Amino acid sequence: MREQISVKSPEGIEKMREAGKRLAKVHEELKAAIRPGISTGELNRIAETVIRDLKCSPNFLHYNGFPAAACISVNDEVVHGIPHDEHFLDEGDIVSLDLGLIYEGWHSDAARTYGVGTVSKEDALLIERTRQSFFEGIAHARAGNYLHQISNAIADYAESYGYGVVYDLVGHGIGRRLHEPPEIPNCHVQGRGPKLKAGMTLAVEPMINAGAPDVYWDEEDGWTVLTEDGSNCAHYENTILITNGDPEILTLTREERE
Ligand code: MG
Repeated sequence: MREQISVKSPEGIEKMREAGKRLAKVHEELKAAIRPGISTGELNRIAETVIRDLKCSPNFLHYNGFPAAACISVNDEVVHGIPHDEHFLDEGDIVSLDLGLIYEGWHSDAARTYGVGTVSKEDALLIERTRQSFFEGIAHARAGNYLHQISNAIADYAESYGYGVVYDLVGHGIGRRLHEPPEIPNCHVQGRGPKLKAGMTLAVEPMINAGAPDVYWDEEDGWTVLTEDGSNCAHYENTILITNGDPEILTLTREERE
């Protein structure tokens, strides 16, 4: 039997809100630290330090053996990039920061892609449209609707610009565990998927390639996912709470809420 999608209690939802708020603070600190010349290893240290200062623990660290608190993926790296002290960001790079934390047993997960210094117009648009594809998707994320309405809306929007929606990686339910059912595709899917209920918490995370949707796994490190055609990729993710109205986005920074 397929595992049920968990519906959180009011107490659980309060913890999830707090987990989300704290993760947003980590993202604020990381955004402020990004500049040409900083290493991805240094960004990872900042992430882990801020997470622990907030009395939380990094849920990515040691997850299936992942060696860091944050996945940091540059340019044609889609996700799961391993931070490294010798990997310095260059002017014009785009960098994706994907990380999460555990607060009193409850998980949050969010990703952002930023330009390093000045980036090309194409990359700036890719970042902005990837962000917007998330909002197009979650416009359908409310109780009574169906999960794949989110997926199809993301794909419709991204593909209207000729982008490749990564279909080998998906979003996920989240709560007491980092990855819970359901899987949340970002591409067009047949069937409507599970019905959404108030109290479900989901990590919706479009990964959008400037070129073709195909990706491959780096065989040397076993983690990094890259675009097959070498085109750049952007990633945008928030943990959201399904309600009877608009979803509550739990991982927005203060600046993003304004
Ligand atoms: Mg995620």
